[in-house]
Amino acid sequence: MAQEIVLTGDTVLTKRFCSDARVRLGQVGETLSAGDVTVTHLESVPSGDGGESYPAYRSHGGIHTAPDDIGRRLADAGIDVATLAGEHVLDHTYGGLFAAWRSLDAADVAHAGTGWDLTDARAPTTVETGDGDVAVVSAAATFHDHAIAGKTHGGTRRPGLCPLRQRTVVDEENWDRIKREVRRDGRHGVVRNGDELLVNRPGTSLPVEQYVRDPRRATDGWTTETLPADRHELRERVSQAATHAETVVVHVHSHEYAHGGSFDEPPAFVRSFAETVARAGADIVVVQGSQALRGVDRVEGAVVFYGLGRLVRTRPGRPRLREEESLLGVDDDLSPLDDGFAVARNRNTALVPTCSVRSDGVESVSIDVVQRDDEGVPRLVVGDEKRETLRTVDNRSDRFETNLRVEPDSGTVVLTNG
Ligand SMILES: [Zn+2]
Repeated sequence: MAQEIVLTGDTVLTKRFCSDARVRLGQVGETLSAGDVTVTHLESVPSGDGGESYPAYRSHGGIHTAPDDIGRRLADAGIDVATLAGEHVLDHTYGGLFAAWRSLDAADVAHAGTGWDLTDARAPTTVETGDGDVAVVSAAATFHDHAIAGKTHGGTRRPGLCPLRQRTVVDEENWDRIKREVRRDGRHGVVRNGDELLVNRPGTSLPVEQYVRDPRRATDGWTTETLPADRHELRERVSQAATHAETVVVHVHSHEYAHGGSFDEPPAFVRSFAETVARAGADIVVVQGSQALRGVDRVEGAVVFYGLGRLVRTRPGRPRLREEESLLGVDDDLSPLDDGFAVARNRNTALVPTCSVRSDGVESVSIDVVQRDDEGVPRLVVGDEKRETLRTVDNRSDRFETNLRVEPDSGTVVLTNG
């Protein structure tokens, strides 16, 4: 028997959106309930109980506050697993994270990507089905540094998220240029082991950017890669999970895009990580966070979705403490640096793929298309609208040499290489 795995992008379910008794997911609810296991990325947490929960100083585009019963609401909508690794998971500091765990646990919604320490955060969560286990690993490439879970040392631990950290690999020319610019700009830089450069970002002496000099790998002078420790540890988790689980899903929350490329193109470090975990035994890799609809890749028996868009999105609430604003205030008038990015993002459209997985990998994929209305409620679209969206995804899959062919009757998507 095949396992049916349903995937979605971000669920930004805020208190305001949930003012009525049930999660309002329009006709999408049936699609979400139809699979054996349905996975979403939860991009909001409850504000938690008074006394242990406080809004974070820094958030990304506003603090996302979920209702306290977010777990029940996701369960009602047909969600079985929530991935939590993302930059909003500490919007209400640790109290909010613990409140999210309690709410999800109470509703029997499994969750991955956060934990009491780094080992716990990297661990897969496993869901049992009649046809075997489904294991889900979740990691974030986009996060505030303080949100990373810590290694346990002598009984001291730090809860947080599973990170997928990146660094920039450069050729000799860029290596020399960056060092010159760091000196010119009065920034602090140190060279480690002769070929690693750590520099503070402009205007602060604390966070570091990391460059590695390696002309062999820096094709075109510049590329990005995941930190070896994160890549190694996550690959191990995936290959272990693949020994007992029927299906292994790897989730990556990433807002990044390709260096010198466009918004609909995933960055090099995400692509190579996706290929690494697919070869280690993942059946499905789902990358989301950019809000862009991106292409689909086939790596051996696995399928990689590089961008599903946002399933549910409502305006975030105002931070409770106005003097401690998010980096991008919710009332700011923002316009993209490059209009092409705004177009690529298709901000109101999202994909909901269903994958049929057998022992040798993903056998078939069908993709539903949803469009969010002004209130943020997603509804299934059909006919020309659906076909046009899938054509866009097909075009954006060209760079992976994958073709999408939509079966006229069933809407099933056939993925072919070349
Ligand atoms: Zn995000």
